[in-house]
Amino acid sequence: MNQEQSSGIILVMSGPSGVGKSTVFHALYELTQHLHFSVSCTTRPPRPGEEDGVAYHFLNEAQYQAHLAAGDFLEHATVHAHLYGTLVSELEPIWDGKDVLLDIDVQGMLQVRQNLAAKPQYASRLVTVFLMPPSMAELEKRLRGRKTEDEDTIQRRLAGAQREITFWKEYQYVLINEDSQESARHLASILDAARFRSNILTQETWNA
Ligand code: ADP
Ligand code: 5GP
Repeated sequence: MNQEQSSGIILVMSGPSGVGKSTVFHALYELTQHLHFSVSCTTRPPRPGEEDGVAYHFLNEAQYQAHLAAGDFLEHATVHAHLYGTLVSELEPIWDGKDVLLDIDVQGMLQVRQNLAAKPQYASRLVTVFLMPPSMAELEKRLRGRKTEDEDTIQRRLAGAQREITFWKEYQYVLINEDSQESARHLASILDAARFRSNILTQETWNA
């Protein structure tokens, strides 16, 4: 049995908007290839350059509500006045040995943790990481520097950041994102360590 490739990890990363979650995930992709980026559903309009089905599944309200009614979401939440949700099906690549990366907010992480608690084969593979900005001033600089949001949206996201940061203790790991390459290296180490958890192995895999 190849312990490192038997199945993947479910990595949930949260952190305030603009802290660098997508940048760190992309840097991680340079270090390790067996990744699946969970593609969330959202009613938020696409930013310039965001492709449907890649950044998000961009849905209208009716399409989103149809998924909700069908029970397709592992978790769902209203974030910064838009609806977001992770499809249950996004976790399945773990059975092909891929690490599944979820960039979701605090409400989403709490639901994932609760919903997977009754499913040990998933719960044992769950790793939660909070990405923290070096300071609020630096967060604002990054959010403004991205030039994708108007002033109202920036203010809403900064207010949300203050709230989100208070939940850092709910996460298994906290990374202060000074340098995205370094944060990606730390994430890779966290993923590596999680693969060796005793609760991932069953007696059957051990005997195989
Ligand atoms: P998030 O996904 O958390 O909303 P992004 O990855 O879009 O954040 O990053 C927000 C902005 O901050 C982008 O312009 C990005 O280039 C920049 N950025 C990301 N990580 C860092 C970092 N470690 N140092 C400086 N700037 C960063
Ligand atoms: P953005 O609109 O900047 O892409 O994301 C805004 C916030 O929504 C981020 O905090 C991001 O983590 C969160 N988010 C993205 N997708 C989901 C999702 O499927 N579920 C939840 N709960 N939050 C999400």
